[in-house]
Amino acid sequence: MKKQLVKSRFAPSPTGFIHMGNARTALFSALLSRRERGAFVLRIEDTDQERSREEFVHAVQEDLWWLSLQWQEGPVTGGEHGPYRQSERAAVYDQYFDQLVQQDKVYPCFCSTQELNLARKIQVSSGQPPRYSGKCARLSKAEIAEKIDQGLLPTLRFRVPAQQMIEFEDLVRGKQAFKSDEIGDFIIRRADGTTAFFFCNAVDDALMGVTHVLRGEDHLTNTPRQLLILDALGLDKPQYGHISLIVGHDGSPLSKRHGSRSIRELREQGYLADAVTNYLARLGHHYESDAYMDIDQLAANFDVARLGRSPARYDAHQLLHWQHQALARASLSDIWEWMGSAVHDIVPEDHRADFIETIRPNISFPEHAARWARIVYTDPLLLDDHAREIVAAAGKHFFAQALQSVAGHASDFKAFAKAVGQLSGAKGKDLFLPLRVALTGEAGGPEMARLMPLLGEERVRARLEACLVD
Ligand code: GLU
Repeated sequence: MKKQLVKSRFAPSPTGFIHMGNARTALFSALLSRRERGAFVLRIEDTDQERSREEFVHAVQEDLWWLSLQWQEGPVTGGEHGPYRQSERAAVYDQYFDQLVQQDKVYPCFCSTQELNLARKIQVSSGQPPRYSGKCARLSKAEIAEKIDQGLLPTLRFRVPAQQMIEFEDLVRGKQAFKSDEIGDFIIRRADGTTAFFFCNAVDDALMGVTHVLRGEDHLTNTPRQLLILDALGLDKPQYGHISLIVGHDGSPLSKRHGSRSIRELREQGYLADAVTNYLARLGHHYESDAYMDIDQLAANFDVARLGRSPARYDAHQLLHWQHQALARASLSDIWEWMGSAVHDIVPEDHRADFIETIRPNISFPEHAARWARIVYTDPLLLDDHAREIVAAAGKHFFAQALQSVAGHASDFKAFAKAVGQLSGAKGKDLFLPLRVALTGEAGGPEMARLMPLLGEERVRARLEACLVD
């Protein structure tokens, strides 16, 4: 038998910028289909017209591209199951609503919001799960016609079959079973004619041929309803896998206060896409190897069986670790572009490669690169209090001897320091620290042997001379 093509999807609601949680869902879904050489679908779930914004539709596409999570079917790329925006699929949903109406698997509900709220309150206060009472489930045709004549706009409710067990094997959480009697008849079309999430999400997955749905565990209880809908319509069901939440250090759901940011904010701050994917791919998914991987390697080693059931804890240090890994591997041209105009404006063209290689191990973000560019290439060098203390402790005599030692060694720090040591008698930290501070203003940083040739003789002399004056 021919193996079915794996098709996964990401189905964001464009109501905000994507954050680590939904980016990770997109990443896992994309890795799954990439590993199987299947297809990854992007579907925009914009039926909530009030909260959906065009700006976020564009942003999610940009963010996915940036993360190298290209979709084979979806907006822009197209595909045979489009349109891929739910706001353009009303005619498709109508057809399936009609089918359910014909089969009497749905009914119009005229209960007002106030009525429903009151009923819910009463149920909750008497310790029952809130569930629709079924009040409109048995209205006669005449009663329905009368209400419609009065101008009442009904919602459409799905008739949940009585006394059934709805079972499925979750890709992450294993066997799941829900009693249909605990699920009230639910709304699949709102009174304003728009389609409810349960319905369009399930129908689209089936129509788009999606075989694997990976999504947040907050959707787990939606799944039995969606399976009922697909059953009623005779449509194919995907396999569902519900991914555990990401939590902060205190165990509560990840939020801004734990340092969570949107993918956009991470990019603007200077995180590299490979750092973000290497980090997120390991957040709740176990890889055998701790080595850095490109997106194809991440995909080749991805396995739904390795998705954890317990919440994944966000760790900013780990993200920074992957940032350093990604920086160590980035090409010169990528790093140069990443450093931005604050660096481009200062670093001479013929120094680019050397400058990058010199500071690469010591930086995490473009602002650090800009800082080193200013240190190396702009004058005068300003010393903070700590730097001044170090310079003062070494003394003017030491710097006079350093100046004498520059000749012939201006681009060879080792030889220069050796000469200063011989003249001054200073050793170890007493020798290296004041030289570093005098030349860079910093007590730490990139290797002096690499920095010194970038500074050039004139600047080295000027900075040593500056230590001779009070
Ligand atoms: N639009 C839904 C969301 O963003 C999709 C849920 C799903 O992946 O099925 O939560």
